[in-house]
Amino acid sequence: MSAAAAALAFRGVGRSFGHGRDAVRALDGVELELPAGSFTAIVGPSGCGKSTLLTIAAGLDTGYDGSVEMRPHDAHRAYLFQRPRLFPWLTARRNVAFVLEATGVPRAAARARAEECLALVGLEAAADRFPLQLSGGMQQRVALARALAVEPALLLMDEPFSALDELTAQRLRGEVADLAARSGCTVLLVTHNIAEACFLADRVIAMGTRPGRVIGSFEIAAPHPRDEQAPGVLAAAGRVAACLRAAEPALATGTTPPTRPPAPGAGGAGTTTTKAST
Ligand code: ADP
Ligand code: MG
Repeated sequence: MSAAAAALAFRGVGRSFGHGRDAVRALDGVELELPAGSFTAIVGPSGCGKSTLLTIAAGLDTGYDGSVEMRPHDAHRAYLFQRPRLFPWLTARRNVAFVLEATGVPRAAARARAEECLALVGLEAAADRFPLQLSGGMQQRVALARALAVEPALLLMDEPFSALDELTAQRLRGEVADLAARSGCTVLLVTHNIAEACFLADRVIAMGTRPGRVIGSFEIAAPHPRDEQAPGVLAAAGRVAACLRAAEPALATGTTPPTRPPAPGAGGAGTTTTKAST
């Protein structure tokens, strides 16, 4: 867990899917810089392009416009998804060791490292269990151990807590905050949970839809370890929510969303930067 962190920058990144009347502008003009070692969260309504942005950051989608710069360019990236995506026929230990063996680490060393990582997420006693013998929260912990095993310089997470019950999610959020701080890696988290974003991140980026774009940037200055109910965290969550509501009036009223983004200056479009202190 000592890999140097990576810095990541999106410069004018856009992404379209489909053609003609079916065309979707999933992302448009995204400008975003993630300093090395920072924790950034992206929040926004369903369909605003969060997963698309993360997939581009992971290097899994190259069909975008603009550019993405990562320093160092060959930094290790790890991806944690909403579902753990474990191999059901492998034990927890072998699920983690598998990714290491796939990169050429000898079997014995891979297993030893897998055990180390399972211990980091509190699962040392469950190394010999199969995924179906583990709860949803424990399975997601195995997936986290697997992500950490490669000592990523960049950790990408796509709604990793949203399939868990709230108590389990709370516990795992605390562990992720702690592990991210200790490893020093750069983290990009996608979530639709504003409170979660403000609890975990140094900076929260709000996104709007049609087209998917950045509509606000909020620094969360509350010290770590944080309390979800800390005034700085709650105040920041209020600001982020207000920004998202202003850009998508339907979120507040429950009515049909507009077919076009609001004009600049009309109710929250454009980028806002605010600082939330403790
Ligand atoms: P989010 O993660 O914020 O919910 P996504 O990034 O998954 O949003 O999707 C953004 C938009 O792009 C949506 O309208 C979605 O339907 C569309 N989209 C995403 N991936 C594809 C794809 N492979 N083909 C066509 N449309 C896509
Ligand atoms: Mg998504």
